[in-house]
Amino acid sequence: MNTRPWTASKLEFDDLTVIGYSVAGEETVILVPELNVCFDIGRCPREALPIDHVLLSHGHADHSVGLLYYFAQRDFQGIAGGKALVPSNLVEPIETLLRAWGRVEGQVPPHEIIGRKAGQDYELRRNLFARPFRVPHVPGALGYSIIDVRHKLKPELLGKEGPELVTLKQQGMEITDRTEVPLVAYLGDTGPGDYTDNPAVRDARILLIECTFFDDEHKSRAKAGRHIHIDALPGILERMNNQHIVITHVTRRTHLGQARRRLRKTLPKAVAEKVTFLMNRRNQTDE
Ligand SMILES: [Zn+2]
Repeated sequence: MNTRPWTASKLEFDDLTVIGYSVAGEETVILVPELNVCFDIGRCPREALPIDHVLLSHGHADHSVGLLYYFAQRDFQGIAGGKALVPSNLVEPIETLLRAWGRVEGQVPPHEIIGRKAGQDYELRRNLFARPFRVPHVPGALGYSIIDVRHKLKPELLGKEGPELVTLKQQGMEITDRTEVPLVAYLGDTGPGDYTDNPAVRDARILLIECTFFDDEHKSRAKAGRHIHIDALPGILERMNNQHIVITHVTRRTHLGQARRRLRKTLPKAVAEKVTFLMNRRNQTDE
């Protein structure tokens, strides 16, 4: 028997690392350790265990089944504080599953399931937020953007001394401007949708976007399953400003080399140069 160890891909973009495994129907789990987030949980590889926030996009098993193990194993290892942000329609069924497992195992693992709807920000840590948005896949399905919030002194106050600023603040004046810097946007499973109009997605430094199908005969599958086919990708990406684009969720029906060739042919060169396949680790314009 051949054995095949779980091998995550690791991509580095400046100060952020994207580590993950994503194959359609099999498993999707993508973590960004510096942001302490894990997009979907797949079968919960050990790399995901120290991450405190699981951001679940939808309930399909290849994205969600490891959630129980995540909470149980963290409890076993004494790692407190794990949380899962999930689409609000999944809170009740997930709680029911965890209770049912409690009857199987003898105890319900400590857990925190936090329901989210599109636009309901969640503060991951000071000045870092997860912002859910709707994606067309299954009812309730969400993508998430991680947003760094920065406060800069208002331009008209530049040059003023500290004590003066303190006084102004005490008088109730807003002395800073709030700016949002979207760092990573994860679309989960999705077809083409209105997320291209969402600045938290469009302007994210890194875009994690699924492109499941690459063959002409798979177009109807893409439509039926509400996934992206390569031919829809140029229309989606031409509206985006992302510096790095990572393709996830490629079907095993297509060889990755073939997918890379098809992508090169389909996308404008300037866009293709920004693209990496998560499971391939090479920039797709490399030979
Ligand atoms: Zn799915």
